This record gives sequence, C-alpha cells and structure tokens, in this order.
Amino acid sequence: MRTIDVDKLVKELDNYKTGNVQYFSFTTLQWLIDNMATVDISVIKHGKWVYDEEDEKFRCSECKHSASTDGDYRQVCTPYCQECGAKMDLK
Ligand SMILES: [Zn+2]
Repeated sequence: MRTIDVDKLVKELDNYKTGNVQYFSFTTLQWLIDNMATVDISVIKHGKWVYDEEDEKFRCSECKHSASTDGDYRQVCTPYCQECGAKMDLK
C-alpha cells in the first residue's frame, strides 16, 4: 500500500485549474497520483486544537497554524492540521 498526501494532490490539481486547462485526461490524473511522494504514516503527529484568545482562533498545538473553520471560528472543520498534518486526537 502507498499512502499519499491528498492535500498536496489537491494543490497540484489547483495548479492545473489556475493554468486554465480545458481538458484534463484520466491519464494525466493517473500520472499525478503515480508520481506523488509516499508519506510515512508511522511518523504521524498528534495534537489538539488550542484556543488563542488574543487572535480568537483555534491553533494547532504542534505548529501553531490556525484551524480552518466553516465561517464560525468556533467550528473547526477538520480533524487534522492542514499545515503539519497532526491528527487532532489528544485530550
Ligand atoms: Zn499543525
């Protein structure tokens, strides 16, 4: 089994989008997936969202990056940090 970083794949796809590509073939998508770097899942970080009262944002306990929210700053919408990949499963 190969594990890849889907966020990086989405960024790659966004690059194609901003390049205004009209036609995107299955072969190109297959090539992108095949050439993505493999992620070592044995080194997954664990963290928790910590509320930063000064900025009124939740931040990752591992890298201090602010959490993505769904409009409301109290509603963190991902179970992992988009910046460092830490899984938010610490209490
Ligand atoms: Zn983080």
